[in-house]
Amino acid sequence: MSDLVQRVREVLPSVRRDLEDLVRIESVWADPARRGEVQRSADAVAKLLTEAGLRDVQIVAEGGAPAVIARHPAPPGAPTVLLYAHHDVQPEGDPAQWDTPPFEPTERDGRLYGRGTADDKAGIATHLAAFRAHGGNPPVGVTVFVEGEEESGSPSLSRLLAAHRDTLASDVIVIADSDNWSTEVPSLTVSLRGLADCVVEVATLDHGLHSGLWGGVVPDALSVLVRLLASLHDDDGNVAVDGLHETTAADVDYPPERVREETGLLPGVSEIGSGTVPQRLWAKPAITVIGIDTTPIGKSSNTLIPRARAKVSMRVAPGGDAAEHLAALTRHLETHVPWGAQVTVTPGDLGQPYAIDASGPVYDAAREAFRTAWGAEPVDTGVGGSIPFIAEFAEAFPSAKILVTGVEDPATQAHSVNESLHLGVLERAAVSEALLLANLGSERQVAP
Ligand SMILES: [Zn+2]
Repeated sequence: MSDLVQRVREVLPSVRRDLEDLVRIESVWADPARRGEVQRSADAVAKLLTEAGLRDVQIVAEGGAPAVIARHPAPPGAPTVLLYAHHDVQPEGDPAQWDTPPFEPTERDGRLYGRGTADDKAGIATHLAAFRAHGGNPPVGVTVFVEGEEESGSPSLSRLLAAHRDTLASDVIVIADSDNWSTEVPSLTVSLRGLADCVVEVATLDHGLHSGLWGGVVPDALSVLVRLLASLHDDDGNVAVDGLHETTAADVDYPPERVREETGLLPGVSEIGSGTVPQRLWAKPAITVIGIDTTPIGKSSNTLIPRARAKVSMRVAPGGDAAEHLAALTRHLETHVPWGAQVTVTPGDLGQPYAIDASGPVYDAAREAFRTAWGAEPVDTGVGGSIPFIAEFAEAFPSAKILVTGVEDPATQAHSVNESLHLGVLERAAVSEALLLANLGSERQVAP
């Protein structure tokens, strides 16, 4: 095993160079002007996989962004492992807020800064490192699948999975696109909350009225909306909507100081809700008001606003159904509007939550690899947000075991400015994955 660790260390400098070259490509699929860059990024990924010794390398698309598929056939009796990552990145936001240019990878204090250094080009780098460390000949079948539109919600993923079902079919799916507990302690992500959102509009009048003439007698729509939105939480900040699902989170310590540090909560502002932090983050529903349309202050006058609307977003705990949760939220909004105001709820996006039963030989093999690579016991964590495509993989390949790993850490700032990758985490993630392939190859019983 120590040989393998040594070989990962030997290949890491070349992997790091390849990662930096990928980061220099502005593969923002959400920006129509940069779709050529996404194609260039797919070409670069395909070239790297070919050079690493993978076969049948192809760039595929099903009406969306180009994805890359490459294979290493399974030795007889050995399982096949699908290694997932995505080569598209989030838009960089305001370049002025970056300390160094977003598409020029820059090392500072053991971290590599740049858009996509972690999310998720480091996932590609991890797969490359593991494959190269095995000399291009791991003891299991490997299928690498690098998607190109994850940051846009993977709209054509289900078509890709259907069109390439035989090529992608595998016993184990490693999704390297999540977080670690810290730079020293790895995580196995075992649950993800789902999402349901809607727009609620309230109306009190068919036209604006002079507030001096009618204020105090007829309600303005914005005051109505504010009261309605306030009814979504109790005074302690717990969600106050009936009929929502709650489960039980892993029992891990998440101190208040860590919450403050990771969120930048301003002095004097308290946390909301009751229960442990993991419970509130991973196992309970949450409701957030994410947008509002009303008269902007610059255009305001002494007028009773006739209608106003807000977008309400809900996180759904694992085990709950996103559509039922949206129905419960809609019922609440329709029945809690004050003063008989008219209310209209327009349903928005739905994403199902997901929970993984992380027990059995594949998960044992993964935990053993983590323990050796990190010198620390992995923590089973949840994620407060959703990665909808995980549910799509589970649906497409119901008998496959899904491992959600990653190269991020609490300081990564994925999706934000100054995104960065901890280089020690990259090494430990690469060693973990190389060991995982070895462990799965030696435990033939993992093949169903
Ligand atoms: Zn990602």
